[in-house]
Amino acid sequence: MSPRRWLLADQLGPHFLDDDRQPVLLVEVSELFRRRRLHRQKAHLILSALRHRAAELGDRALLLRTGTFREALASVDGPVEVCHPSTRATLDFVRSVPGLAMLPPRGFVTDLADFADWADRPRRGQLRMVDFYRYAKRRHGVLTGPGPTGRPTTTSGPTLDVPPPPPIVEDDIDAGVRADLDRWERDGVRFVGRDAPRTHPASHTEAEERLAHFLRYRLPAFGRYGDVMSADDPVLAHGMLSSSFNLGLLDPAVALHRAEAAWRAGEAPSASVEAFVRGLLGWREFLWQLYWYVEPPYRGTGWLAATESLPQWFVDLDADAVEARCLADVLAGVRDRAWVHHAQRLLVLGNHALQRGWRPTELADWFQRSFVDGVDWVMNTTVIGMSQYADLARVDTRPYAVDGRYIDEISDYCTDCRYRPDRELGDLACPYTGGFAAFLHRNREKLVADPRLAAELAARDDPDRREAVLAQEEKRGSNPP
Ligand code: SF4
Repeated sequence: MSPRRWLLADQLGPHFLDDDRQPVLLVEVSELFRRRRLHRQKAHLILSALRHRAAELGDRALLLRTGTFREALASVDGPVEVCHPSTRATLDFVRSVPGLAMLPPRGFVTDLADFADWADRPRRGQLRMVDFYRYAKRRHGVLTGPGPTGRPTTTSGPTLDVPPPPPIVEDDIDAGVRADLDRWERDGVRFVGRDAPRTHPASHTEAEERLAHFLRYRLPAFGRYGDVMSADDPVLAHGMLSSSFNLGLLDPAVALHRAEAAWRAGEAPSASVEAFVRGLLGWREFLWQLYWYVEPPYRGTGWLAATESLPQWFVDLDADAVEARCLADVLAGVRDRAWVHHAQRLLVLGNHALQRGWRPTELADWFQRSFVDGVDWVMNTTVIGMSQYADLARVDTRPYAVDGRYIDEISDYCTDCRYRPDRELGDLACPYTGGFAAFLHRNREKLVADPRLAAELAARDDPDRREAVLAQEEKRGSNPP
């Protein structure tokens, strides 16, 4: 008899199984939902996806609801195996269970050993995503060779007047999940955010439909609109596929080749396909690899002396307390959808936390709990490394700090905001513009080595103005802006 394959909650797609007869173990540990305050929609999605997978597999699947993984494994007869988990804590647990066999990781394109070979090459220097991406494209033969021939690639500006993705229709499984979560809440389990009809795929079939929709309708606009932020359209050209990749419902290798095929068929411009591939084969894989490669694990260095706790209004997703239009809109998106796109995460949420000196590890934990796609390996590297620059430049070469003028350039938020993006001082001073200036002054000695930030500092060398900005932003502190 082949070993029973234990599928963790982020290993729910067909590529985590080898044949259509292998017995499967799925485990729901309710304690994991009690220990940390998750977004209600995230808790719903995880449980819904686990239960949908059990229903798809029918008699082959054993779905256990236990207090711990150890209890579940102790109650299973016969050999059990599991693919390499995605968190260090679960890896330690798997290694501690006698007789539990572990297979290599799945759901990623580059092997851990290949990355280590690449990273350890002599004269490698700083590990940079752009270098890794170049290596990964060559190694896996993605977007190499000649481009499309015969038909011209679509280069005219695609409009965003595209149909919505196929609707997700909740079923009896979702009704059961909702009833359980309601009951847990009555029993004292605390969530953040609002409950709402499920909008993220919970099965491979739903995820496939969303991917097909993205490739056909939104990929052509992805290069042009990927970093744009709009109060009227929270999705724009994004596929909202990240939770499907992170739950293991979709295989990134398949998605990459389908995007490339769309380019070769002249159905999507090269800039769009390149942006999508860079995100999936470049950034996503680079962050996964760094999570395992970097020792000791990501904890944040305190290099920028960011020591403030996250304020309660932010923790509670209290968007109504915020007047700054960009932050109010993005925080409301987290509250209502448990998802906003990457530019909103970096430039509005992360940028604000960086300017206010909030603790990077607390912020990473907040992102992980509050987003449907929040997982340990992404949030530690992205938030602590890229967003908060608290890893001594392992992920990025400079802090992701921008002022309100930059936000104004790439969004429609500022038009109806009570603040003005070009004001640094005064009642109308944009909290991002004043906050950026104060951040630079506070960290002058550490930031002046970077040419861009040195130029920003040089443009703000009036001592009276500097004192005024520092006093103003000190007074604003971590209150809702
Ligand atoms: Fe955000 Fe400042 Fe623009 Fe208001 S003015 S929306 S606070 S960037």
